[in-house]
Amino acid sequence: MSVPLDLAIRGGTVVTAADMVRADVGVRDGKVVALAASLPDAREEIDASGLLVMPGGVDAHCHLAQPSYGGVSCADDFESGTISALCGGTTTIMPFATQARGERLRDVVDAYHARARGKAAGDYAFHLILTDPTPQVLGQDLPALIADGYTSFKLFLTYDGFHLQDNEVLNILEVAQEAGGLVMVHAENHDCIAFLAERLVRQGKTAPRYHADSRPQAVEREASHRAIALAEVAAAPLFLVHVSAGEAIEQIAWARARGLPVFAETCPQYLFLAAEDMNRPGFEGAKFMCSPPPRDRANPEILWRALQNDILQVVSSDHSPSRFEGPDGKKAHGEHAPFTEIANGIPGLETRLPLLFSEGVNGGRFDACRFVALTATNPARIYGLYPQKGTIAVGSDADLVLWDAQREVTITNADLHHNVDYTPYEGRRVTGWPVRTLLRGRTVWNDGQVLAEPGEGRFLPCGTPAPVLAQRAARP
Ligand code: MN
Ligand code: MN
Repeated sequence: MSVPLDLAIRGGTVVTAADMVRADVGVRDGKVVALAASLPDAREEIDASGLLVMPGGVDAHCHLAQPSYGGVSCADDFESGTISALCGGTTTIMPFATQARGERLRDVVDAYHARARGKAAGDYAFHLILTDPTPQVLGQDLPALIADGYTSFKLFLTYDGFHLQDNEVLNILEVAQEAGGLVMVHAENHDCIAFLAERLVRQGKTAPRYHADSRPQAVEREASHRAIALAEVAAAPLFLVHVSAGEAIEQIAWARARGLPVFAETCPQYLFLAAEDMNRPGFEGAKFMCSPPPRDRANPEILWRALQNDILQVVSSDHSPSRFEGPDGKKAHGEHAPFTEIANGIPGLETRLPLLFSEGVNGGRFDACRFVALTATNPARIYGLYPQKGTIAVGSDADLVLWDAQREVTITNADLHHNVDYTPYEGRRVTGWPVRTLLRGRTVWNDGQVLAEPGEGRFLPCGTPAPVLAQRAARP
């Protein structure tokens, strides 16, 4: 007699990046062990009739428990951040372990592990942020960390204290290429932003809306193209984070048409918000400030098309939580602070999936399989977490979201679980909502009820990123 199932989820429609099929899902020891038209009795039964059963979301870009910067605190730690993610149907997150110049990478990683331990309620992996590519980092620390499962790292082409020179980017790309890591780039031109911001401030144009004027599309277009060219020269794959601009999309499409291994994500703020949201009266516009900034109202259609055509492969939140009120939030320097002193970043761990499903799937732009690819399967593959994460298959972790594709919800911050005092999507109507989330077979969110437990989340060492594997396979 075979061992009984721990859990059977019956009557739902199972959606993966490849298929949509009516099937029951059997779970044992936190793993999917059966997909079948019908399954024997289990210890726990869930009726999923009328619901989609999708892989738990993988949010490959978010910021949690980072040190305060310019007096502004990161509002979410690993507890509130992961719980908010789980309530929004996301079971795996990839926050950043950020190196300050002068810090040893291994110490940075240890510090972020300490922040996550005992607090994370969902599973997590880390990207590194490299700001100080010393010979020690390049020759020793980075290859060793790649071997230990930190296989992706972000570089900045802008921000004081972060931005790297082209020669530094090339050196890092070379190490990544040799050691099997994937370089992610924040692509904006540092000197252009400094030049424009300084001029705007001199002219007295300091309100939040001028943030967008200080970082026009050309700034992102140039840096995107430069990152692509540097990766081509170093013969390394490249991932462009938080692509906002139609003109950057042109560069990515150009690179991919040439057969270059260039991959990219966008975020809900670029699909749903616009620069004119920063025109709201008073200080309200600060709620919509992030970098790159949301663009004009015509821009999102270009991004939607890029999601349809696989110019973009991933949708991440870039959850960057600053509170609005209070001395450690966006108002830290007062309501008349110039835009150059206002904290950047928008919260979005919990709203990423409902927004994308509502406009993407129910809006007729792509099917639920593509939704799963963009929000779970592709990020898991690109960052080396697949097939443990990002799909529903025998042997995968039983990270599942039960989705009511017809439920209509008005997003309001009072219903969200992050530690931020606003959402930029306040009052927005969406159709489709995660009614139940399971992490490794255990229900952690059940239609308004939070059952997630701090400390239940596990660290995930990443394997070799799919773009690196593909490149190696193609080499003669
Ligand atoms: Mn960034
Ligand atoms: Mn970010």
